[in-house]
Amino acid sequence: MTVSFLACDIIIVKLRRLCYNTRVEAVSPQLQYVSRLWAHGLDNYADSQGRLAIFGGTMENSKISWTDNSWNPVTGCTQVSPGCDNCYAKRIAEQKRGPAFPKGFDITLRPHKLRDPLKWKEPKLIFVNSMSDLFHRDIPQDYLSQVWATMCQADWHTYQVLTKRAHRMAHLIKTLNLPTPPHIWLGVSAENQQMADSRIPPLLTIPAPVRFISAEPLLGPIDLTPYLSGLAWVIDGGESGSGRRPAEMDWFRSLRDQCDKSGVAYYHKQGNAHMSGRDVELDGVIRHAYPDTGGHAEAARRAVAQTETPKQFALAG
Ligand code: SF4
Repeated sequence: MTVSFLACDIIIVKLRRLCYNTRVEAVSPQLQYVSRLWAHGLDNYADSQGRLAIFGGTMENSKISWTDNSWNPVTGCTQVSPGCDNCYAKRIAEQKRGPAFPKGFDITLRPHKLRDPLKWKEPKLIFVNSMSDLFHRDIPQDYLSQVWATMCQADWHTYQVLTKRAHRMAHLIKTLNLPTPPHIWLGVSAENQQMADSRIPPLLTIPAPVRFISAEPLLGPIDLTPYLSGLAWVIDGGESGSGRRPAEMDWFRSLRDQCDKSGVAYYHKQGNAHMSGRDVELDGVIRHAYPDTGGHAEAARRAVAQTETPKQFALAG
């Protein structure tokens, strides 16, 4: 029984990868839609930690549509702004307090995870610290340097580093002299205009080829005009789950139009659906563009497979 479940899972994962990698713009719009929905829907095979059982827990296959895998050398955090109010990481860590999260949502260093990307031979998009914030003040600087060393060494992957501690990120990258090559994308969360105006300026002081914004959960309209020339990618999405705060669709349309006008890659993750991963179209179109970093095959393949027109994955800025 175990063997047949394993075989079934392997087939599903292979089919899912085929859906991601196929140049779906070459087939009919209906088939594109089914292919994409199915590819995303299969993320539901992962448990609530986003972990696929077939990999024995060594590979964390993310439910988040704009990445392949999450990597958590640290877990735990503290809330800093309205975007944290319904933090999924906090909910999961507190619910699973025990063997998986002995300290719940308190900051927990996981040194046994530090070298994991070196074991993953296939290039991946990796969301760093999906269960924490890498620039939390309680994460020691020498530990941060070790995380960075792994990212630099395992350079066949593309890393998505996203923080709400933008000032600390800018300060530490400068003072610790952390490299910012094209395969390490640096981003800040901006759920409303106030957070955008506070967090994007320090991001723009970092000389990184790929700087990005995650406007999720989107809690108000955002004018990114002053910043777009320095950005390569914008993600947005509405809040899901119980207690979600619905976004107005015009807030998404505005971000889409700002990106289109500036040539910035735009990724609309979802609207206001209760369940994460649903309601992914914006005005009837799936907008899943990625920045083109030139040398990183996995990101480029995904950009081609999931983008409705080539224009939308041109690197901006
Ligand atoms: S910064 Fe991120 S991980 Fe930390 S509490 Fe806020 S939403 Fe959660």
